[in-house]
Amino acid sequence: MKFLLLAVVLLACVFGSIEAKKCPSDWAFPVAPSDIKLAKDLPVAERKVHEKFMKQALDLVIAVNGKFGAVIVDANNTVVCGGVNMGAISRIYHGEIVAIKNCSEITGKATFQDHTIYTTGEPCPMCQSAIMWTKFKRVVFGSFISNMYCERCFNQIPIASNIINAAGYGINHYVDIIGGVLESETDKRFPVICGTNDPFVMVPMCQSNWNRSCPKRTRFFGELQPVSDSESD
Ligand SMILES: [Zn+2]
Repeated sequence: MKFLLLAVVLLACVFGSIEAKKCPSDWAFPVAPSDIKLAKDLPVAERKVHEKFMKQALDLVIAVNGKFGAVIVDANNTVVCGGVNMGAISRIYHGEIVAIKNCSEITGKATFQDHTIYTTGEPCPMCQSAIMWTKFKRVVFGSFISNMYCERCFNQIPIASNIINAAGYGINHYVDIIGGVLESETDKRFPVICGTNDPFVMVPMCQSNWNRSCPKRTRFFGELQPVSDSESD
């Protein structure tokens, strides 16, 4: 019986390794990150429209003394719904998730082609993925993840929205990304909390005494460059 069991295990190992060899090592394609259009580079008229809706997302978070909020706007430039972070109920209830959930409940839609979502902070990997799964045309954000994490010490999964967007080939959908809209206003929702007891504080690798390849403080993680050892000491 023992020998039979051993034989089965050995066969499983052999077939397992054959199966493993069939798998390509590069099943995910290294697509270059898509651009994040900067608010300052937009034509004034277009920027004003985005600022108007960002102000509404900001008003939502100011009303609850919060940080992350989002509004969703349809093709007719009508605000359909909004939401703010409700992390006290569930840590996955980020502002964008709450807004999308609200919108589905209000409109009965599962996807939002031709819609734009305005969010005070750059979507984290979870929210950027949710925005892509729900087929938004565009996401417009205020504060950059790189700023929140590297410069203000907010805990974040430090992957920029455009890097997640670059993997959109897997669901055949990409979104246009515009960043920095009313950034000076949205940044105020994310004060510098480095060295404080704020529950969201983090010592970012870009600031700690980390001696491996540490991201430079750049607005785009897609432009990562290692700093020299002397710089990181
Ligand atoms: Zn998020």
